[in-house]
Amino acid sequence: MTSTPLKIAIRGAGITGLWQALTLTRRGHQVILAERSAEPFADACSPYAGAMLAPRCEEESAEAMIRELGERGIALWKETYPGLVAQGSLVVAPSRDRSLLDRFERMTEGAGRLDAAALAELEPGLAPRFGTALYYAGEAHLNPGAALAFLLGKVQEAGVAVQFGMETIPQGADLVVDCRGLAAKDGLPTLRGVRGERIVVRAPEIAIQRPVRLLHPRFPLYLVPWGDGLYMVGATAIEREDGGPVTLRSALELLSAAYVLDPAFGEAEILALGAGVRPAFSDNRPRIIPLNGYIYVNGLYRHGFLLAPVMAELVADYLETGATNPEVFVADPAQR
Ligand SMILES: Cc1cc2nc3c(=O)[nH]c(=O)nc-3n(C[C@H](O)[C@H](O)[C@H](O)COP(=O)(O)OP(=O)(O)OC[C@H]3O[C@@H](n4cnc5c(N)ncnc54)[C@H](O)[C@@H]3O)c2cc1C
Repeated sequence: MTSTPLKIAIRGAGITGLWQALTLTRRGHQVILAERSAEPFADACSPYAGAMLAPRCEEESAEAMIRELGERGIALWKETYPGLVAQGSLVVAPSRDRSLLDRFERMTEGAGRLDAAALAELEPGLAPRFGTALYYAGEAHLNPGAALAFLLGKVQEAGVAVQFGMETIPQGADLVVDCRGLAAKDGLPTLRGVRGERIVVRAPEIAIQRPVRLLHPRFPLYLVPWGDGLYMVGATAIEREDGGPVTLRSALELLSAAYVLDPAFGEAEILALGAGVRPAFSDNRPRIIPLNGYIYVNGLYRHGFLLAPVMAELVADYLETGATNPEVFVADPAQR
C-alpha cells in the first residue's frame, strides 16, 4: 500500500475503465488507458445501457449491496457530470397486474405511492392509463453516449494517455487494472455474458421526463428519456454471449411496452436496434480481484453506470490504505 504515485495501466475504455482512469489520475497516479478497439466504444457493452442510476428499483432483483454501493455511485456522478438528470424514477403496471406493483413496493425501499393526481402532476402523459405508480425520488439517469464522451474528454484533459487500437498490456507499469469486460474471461473463468437488447426511438411530441418501468408477468421493461425527444426502450436479459441483431420477438416486446406506456409512441421513429453483452459473474455481484500487481474490476452486470464510479473509488482507497470492502473484494482465486 502506498501514498507514492504509481504508473498504472488500465485495460479497457468502457464505463468501468473510464471511471478508473479518471479517479486514479485525480488521486495523483500516472495513468495509461489502453483500449483494443480503434474507435471509442466500438466494441463495448457500455453504449447499450439505459442508463438508469436506480439503486432502489434494482433491489427488486439485486442484493442490498447494489443499493448501498449505488447510492454512493449517484453521489459521485453528481460531483462530476453536469448532464446527470436527477428527477427520480417511476414504476407502473397495467391495472390487471396491480399485484406486481404491490410486490415491487415490498421488495424495495424508499418508494412513494402516487395516486392519479400526483402521477398527473409528475408525468401528465402517463396519468390517463395508470391510476397509481411508485416513485423513487432519489434515483437518476443519463444519456450513456453523452456521458461516455464526456468522461473520455475529462480523462484526456486530466492528462491520461489514451491509446486506441491497443490490445496488449502497456509496458513499464507498476500496476495493471483490467477493465476489459467480457474479454477478461481468459483470466476469469466464471465470468459470463448476458445479452441485453434495446431500441432507441425518437418521439418529440412525447414529454416523459424520467425513467419508467412497466411491470409485466413475463417481461418487465423500461423506458429512459435521453433528451431531445429520444427514448431508449429496454431491455431483455438473455443468457447468451451474443451481441448480434435484435430478434423479432424481442423487438415486438420492447416496442409494445412503449406503446402500452403511451400509444403516441406509435408515431415514433425507430433509430437503432441493438444488443450489448453484460459482463457478469454467476451471482451477478461485481468484483475487485487483486492479484500481485494486477487488479481485475469486472462483473458489473446490469449496474455498470451505477457502480463504475464507486468501484474506482474502492480501488483508489485500496491502493492508499489497503482497505478491502468485503462485499466486492475477492482474494480467493477460485472465485474468479
Ligand atoms: C441493454 C442494456 C441496458 C443496460 N442498462 C443499464 C442501466 O440502465 N444502468 C446501468 O448502470 N447499467 C446498465 N447496463 C449495464 C452496463 O452497460 C454494463 O454493466 C457496463 O457497460 C459494463 O461496462 P465495462 O466497462 O465493464 O465493459 P465494456 O463496456 O464492455 O468495456 C470493456 C472494454 O474493454 C475493451 N477491451 C476488450 N479487450 C481488450 C484488450 N485486450 N485490451 C484493451 N481493451 C480491451 C473493449 O473493447 C471495451 O471497450 C445495461 C447493459 C445493457 C446491455
